[in-house]
Amino acid sequence: MRTPVHPSGGALRPLGLDEVRITGGYWGRRQQTNADATIGHCLHWLEKLGWIANFDRAATGAPFERAGREFSDSEIYKLAEAMAWEIGRTGSPELEAEFARLTERIAAAQEDDGYLNTMFGHPGQAPRYSDLEWGHELYCYGHLIQAGVARLRTRGEDAFTALARRVADHVCDAFGAGGIERICGHPEIEVALAELARATGETRYLEQARLFIERHGGRTLADAGEYYQDDMPVRAAEVLRGHAVRALYLSSGAIDVAVETGDEELFEAVRRQWHRALARRTHLTGGMGSQYQDEAFGRDFALPPDRAYSESCAGVAAVMTAWRLLLQTGDAAYADMIERVSWNVLAGAAAPDGTSFFYANPLHQRTADPDPAPDRELPHVQGGGRRAPWYDVSCCPTNLARTFAQYAIYLATADRQGIQIHQFAPCTIDTEVDGERFALAVATSYPDDGTVVVRVEANQGSERTVSLRVPVWAEGATVTGPDGETRPVAAGRAASVTAAFAPGDEIRLHLPVEPRWTMPDPRIDAVRGCAAVERGPVVLCAESVDLPGEADVAELTVDAAALPIERDGSVYVAAQVHDRDGDWPYGSPTAPDDEGKSAEVALVPFHRRATRGPASMRVWLPQS
Ligand SMILES: [Zn+2]
Repeated sequence: MRTPVHPSGGALRPLGLDEVRITGGYWGRRQQTNADATIGHCLHWLEKLGWIANFDRAATGAPFERAGREFSDSEIYKLAEAMAWEIGRTGSPELEAEFARLTERIAAAQEDDGYLNTMFGHPGQAPRYSDLEWGHELYCYGHLIQAGVARLRTRGEDAFTALARRVADHVCDAFGAGGIERICGHPEIEVALAELARATGETRYLEQARLFIERHGGRTLADAGEYYQDDMPVRAAEVLRGHAVRALYLSSGAIDVAVETGDEELFEAVRRQWHRALARRTHLTGGMGSQYQDEAFGRDFALPPDRAYSESCAGVAAVMTAWRLLLQTGDAAYADMIERVSWNVLAGAAAPDGTSFFYANPLHQRTADPDPAPDRELPHVQGGGRRAPWYDVSCCPTNLARTFAQYAIYLATADRQGIQIHQFAPCTIDTEVDGERFALAVATSYPDDGTVVVRVEANQGSERTVSLRVPVWAEGATVTGPDGETRPVAAGRAASVTAAFAPGDEIRLHLPVEPRWTMPDPRIDAVRGCAAVERGPVVLCAESVDLPGEADVAELTVDAAALPIERDGSVYVAAQVHDRDGDWPYGSPTAPDDEGKSAEVALVPFHRRATRGPASMRVWLPQS
């Protein structure tokens, strides 16, 4: 099964890259760009900075000067995972040769007992596992193992899967009961071991994943704290907290362990934490990590748009968690969230050409920053205004690459009755339902257009159900079955059509994607009095390049009483552009305000921001 997550049970069955193929549209282009540009770009930077060469140097056994941060090994592993899925998708011989070369260099640095890390344990370095708080050794293993699972499921056993297995065995030996009974400061090993157990049938890996999950909250880390979720047991927490990527990787691992061990209490605990985080700690874009401080989930409703962190990796991690919840429960609300994150975090995190990236994805950029140098990595804390080719902490580019390479699997699932379509993109779905072939082809230019046409390509005469997610914003959606009858479907529910389909039968879903105003809960102080525009699943933003005289977006106010207008593929709002000045930005409620000049201002998709030169930008627009 060519898929990253394959639970032994659950409401929905995931499909593999050989069963779902994206055939065009935005995600088809993204997937192609990932293959043609992003993977090579990451490889280039990993070589250029010496992060791959760390493995060559470690293999010599002599003291060496190491390049990169303590977690840089993980970037090579995430790229290996991207390559593995891409090879699994296309069978590219060039990429296969590249993967083999990379495998050889990684394997050379592995020690006899399976230990593998270029930062610790070599002559002149700190001893192994001497800094579990910040050393990231188990975190790096987690990414190596996930790449191993990708390889195992796309090509079967090989040199790479063998080295991943040796690492996993070493972890069980070293960190099992009676061993080092502690955790890593950055979760990731849990989700990886649980999946390796699924892929190999080796229950020892699942037990080790369970031990790591249960040890959280045991305060085995110095300064045990909320930042790395060591302040309380996973099952005792009420909400996602601390460092966002850590919290979401941990949640994904906890769900996997809960599903495989039948631990309903643990599953419900994580599900509750997710919903509370969505209700109080998530940006409109689906961005998680509501604040710059600690790249963390902040307090409830503390969602500052300009200081939003919303790391690209947190987007990847949110999709990981939501996907697991979707597979287990079948609740399409999780697919809604995957869509929101996909369009508004992942899609914009990489430039259209796939060679520059955002690390943080704030919803408000106050300054029109110039492009970073194309040949130097940017300090990640500076990320914001423009995409950079690489960062000193460059977790995001390779994380995006592996997600884009596997993206097709998020489009659909199956069960005993039929196929569920969760994300709308031109694609083919060809699988078995209850032992019989059932194949569909999806044609759509969504979200530019709200029509999705599903054509039955193959069915052996049995009655089947095709379910299409109707997003929660899609008031007024309709579905038309093969019988030609059109009926309304409620937003937030699935549009299901059951029939003994014949090849050529069509189902048409219509989703109203017209632009709409969205208002924030008044408890979100940072954007009170503001409004945003969404169009279908896409969050829009204003950029200074679209304002009269390229005025700063700080000078913009909008009239949310007037509906946004769509014309020639662009969305416009009625606005005022001010030219304010003064010595004191406060005054009495009756002081005459500068009314500004009325203007119709074009908004652009947030994911397409920062593609037309330096600009200030904002999603939440103050009302006039
Ligand atoms: Zn990142």
